[in-house]
Amino acid sequence: MRRVVVPVLLVFAALSAPSLASARPPATYTWCGTGETTANRVPDLEVTSDQQVRFFYAIPSDGTDNFQATADGIVNDAAWIDQWWQAQDPSRTPRFDRYPFPGCTSPWGQLDIGFIRLPHTAAYYTTRDSPSILLDEDLAGDFPGTQKSIVYYDGPTRNDQICGETDYLSNTFGGDNGIVYLFPQSACGLTPIGSGSSAEVAAHELLHNLGAVADQAPNECPTSQSHVCDSKQDILYPFLSPDSNLDLVTLDVGHDDYYAHSGSWWDVQDSAWLEHLPQFPFSLSEQGSGRLVARSGTLKLPCDAGCTSLSLDNGATVSVLAVPAAGFAFSSWSGACSGTAPSCVLSVGAGTSATATFVKATLRVTAAVTGKGKVTSSPAGISCPGICRTAFAVPVRLTAKPSPGWKFTGWRGVCTGTRPCALSATASVRAVFARR
Ligand SMILES: [Zn+2]
Repeated sequence: MRRVVVPVLLVFAALSAPSLASARPPATYTWCGTGETTANRVPDLEVTSDQQVRFFYAIPSDGTDNFQATADGIVNDAAWIDQWWQAQDPSRTPRFDRYPFPGCTSPWGQLDIGFIRLPHTAAYYTTRDSPSILLDEDLAGDFPGTQKSIVYYDGPTRNDQICGETDYLSNTFGGDNGIVYLFPQSACGLTPIGSGSSAEVAAHELLHNLGAVADQAPNECPTSQSHVCDSKQDILYPFLSPDSNLDLVTLDVGHDDYYAHSGSWWDVQDSAWLEHLPQFPFSLSEQGSGRLVARSGTLKLPCDAGCTSLSLDNGATVSVLAVPAAGFAFSSWSGACSGTAPSCVLSVGAGTSATATFVKATLRVTAAVTGKGKVTSSPAGISCPGICRTAFAVPVRLTAKPSPGWKFTGWRGVCTGTRPCALSATASVRAVFARR
């Protein structure tokens, strides 16, 4: 992470490339949300990772609230960035935070947009050339460390040639370091939001915040750090052309500087804030009575009692643990998981579903240990000390293993001798270990 102020600047018409006709977004979306909240709306629709990009609309304490009028434009910017990104790289798109608003059938209408009324007046934020450092100070600590934020600051700016800004190159951090700003009231022609260059500026600043451009990039501009100067059509060219928009620019011309390049320096294509496409539907279900503890990476999935048609990234790794209810035992998996061990690890590379079957427990096993050693079971379930009592639907074999410096002297209870102990009915056994 480097702290650098990386604005995209308006270029005057006389200095710009010939103006190209402004394209329209491919579709016009309407935001499904209502209300103004700063907090993340839960549940999130994106469940592969909590490293998500969230949009905000922010005004100074004395600013006019145009949130409802701006929200549709922000939705169109998000949709446009998504479509543009996939056109540039079909295997990736930013993981934008979305929320299942009731009755919302449009995927982009579900964008989770936050609202912020800032603690200071418009005059305060115009005391410096750009407001981003002051905004960073006021927003510090407000956002989760996993979140990247795109903030549309609807207030006046002192230097209205600055269209947007981010204060960090931050390929591993979100939170305070993960904030991107857009300045709709600049002279950059970003309004109406969603109709032209606002999506381009948002994507430009987001790329900076995802870690572009590293100093090793061969075409980094000599006088404009973190930008590239090999082509005016590159989205990370330092200047915004009049009437430009996302469809007229390219994600790393030549793929040699910051995206899908073959160099050893940081590549934004590897960012954890990008989805790996295509996403696939993912479902878990259960028969009998129990609970499914499922995680994608460290993020818990809403699958305790089963889940249907979650969308997970291509290549996502999901771990599932089947935990039987009282009086039940885990029997087996079917579908994408198999076997009789209660834990299962899945790699998502297609539509994926698995079913855990729990059955009425027919035998309950209680194990105990004297001395130092461990008793484990096949099928898995007992791991004593730790888990010393559980129920099984099938016959069980217990194995005793002494700790270093100890030896197993034999079973007590229904088992005898030192060989593994086979049980086909409810029983209690004790393993006795003695010092060598
Ligand atoms: Zn820039």
